Amino acid sequence: MASRRGSTSVILPSGQTLPSYTRSSEDDDGLPHATKKFTLTPQRMRIVVEAFKESLELGLSKHGQVVPMIPTYVFGWPTGQETGSYLAVDLGGTNLRVCLVTLQGDGKFEITQSKYRLTEEQKQEDGQILFDFCAECLKAFIDSNIETGVIEKDHVLPLGFTVQERIDHGVLIRWTKGFGSPNTEGHDVVAMFRKSLAKHSVPAEVVALTCDTTGTLIASHYVNPKTRIACIFGTGCNAAYMERAGDIPKIKELGIDPNAEIAINCEWGAFDSFEHENLPRTKYDIIIDETSNKPGEQAFEKLISGRYLGEILRLIICELIDEGVLFLGQNTYKVEIAYSFDTAFLSLMESDPTDELLMIIGIFSHFFALETTLAERQFFRALAKLVSRRAARLSACGIAAIVSKMNYLEEGCAVGADGSLYNKYPGFPERIHEGLQDIFGEKGKTIVTYHAEDGSGIGSAIVAAMTKARRDAGLYPTL
Ligand code: ADP
Ligand code: MG
Repeated sequence: MASRRGSTSVILPSGQTLPSYTRSSEDDDGLPHATKKFTLTPQRMRIVVEAFKESLELGLSKHGQVVPMIPTYVFGWPTGQETGSYLAVDLGGTNLRVCLVTLQGDGKFEITQSKYRLTEEQKQEDGQILFDFCAECLKAFIDSNIETGVIEKDHVLPLGFTVQERIDHGVLIRWTKGFGSPNTEGHDVVAMFRKSLAKHSVPAEVVALTCDTTGTLIASHYVNPKTRIACIFGTGCNAAYMERAGDIPKIKELGIDPNAEIAINCEWGAFDSFEHENLPRTKYDIIIDETSNKPGEQAFEKLISGRYLGEILRLIICELIDEGVLFLGQNTYKVEIAYSFDTAFLSLMESDPTDELLMIIGIFSHFFALETTLAERQFFRALAKLVSRRAARLSACGIAAIVSKMNYLEEGCAVGADGSLYNKYPGFPERIHEGLQDIFGEKGKTIVTYHAEDGSGIGSAIVAAMTKARRDAGLYPTL
């Protein structure tokens, strides 16, 4: 029989005193458990890296693997000398963004853009209606740029199209089909978009379809040629890098020159899905997974990305509420709403500069109508640190897997990273770097992440330029 737990406190290694409850020796559920389970030792990280590497290789060798390792339409690095004007359309989850990018060569560019908010109805609507809306916005954008003389009248501009959603396995089949033939059959998204462009007489020609991660890889390399890997740490997480065609066994039958290079969209958020053999998961992670709309899937992403970090912390808080340790006598319904605790709150909690932790007082009182003691606030902050530090260290494992697979350690490389978690969470990049050194030792210092260039605007335009050049040279596949 589990004993009723009483309120007490524990001392973290940092010396902070945290409220907790007493636990019997066989009871492994308490906070010390959470503390331990969220911590990753260097040995454990190296084991994760090895397993990750195997998953990446498996994804390259066969179709339909857990980590899909999707070959994109992007062949090789940009030269940095790409020039000309391109349109880029980014259909994200909340916004439609339309850009005019002028590539000036030498890794330089200019960008003009407009954003249009998508309504809930628009997102629910039939795809064709959504594309019609995109076409109308694009037309308005082009017209206004013609008026100001930025775009020439009667000039058809090449366009790169970015979708944030996962372009899944299906595309690979289309890719295989499209290879060696200019035929667009099967390219649903592009075909639909072209239809809408024609309907609204928009002077734009879709030449490339990319995901934001591949775009980030290309844009980052354009301005910083040391870039070998791109990562996204936003609502979701993903990575892309450049692979030798000869090292992608699953597309061998396409007969591509083995020394040609192809950008791979890893979709690495799927690592360890279903089997859950390699990543250390706490019971909170398991709850998130089991109550998610896709249980078993995106196992890596669920430990790392912005969508989940706040929820992990919220689940710990809720457990302590249930056990009568926190917020006794207060109405806790607000914090009991699933996903009510945004990851941005963790950022704010960690960056609170005051001794009294006034920012944390504000978050709890304003958003959750809860009063907190200083000890509780220190505890919440320590928890935020545990959760985000684990996310950064696991991210380092993913990066290390690619680095190790591609032998980038000796000469070192730059990793372009984007997304709110990377850009806004205090210390996230530093914690990734610390993780890389825990994995590789001193040599880990040669792998440096930096804030990437905009993948869905500039990246998409560069991909359009590269694809157009290939098409003009009679090289396929193109869309
Ligand atoms: P997207 O992934 O849709 O392109 P972002 O890169 O902005 O968008 O990531 C959004 C995610 O980042 C959300 O899950 C949100 O909770 C989280 N987020 C937003 N602001 C912050 C912040 N200041 N610190 C940490 N995470 C944040
Ligand atoms: Mg994004």
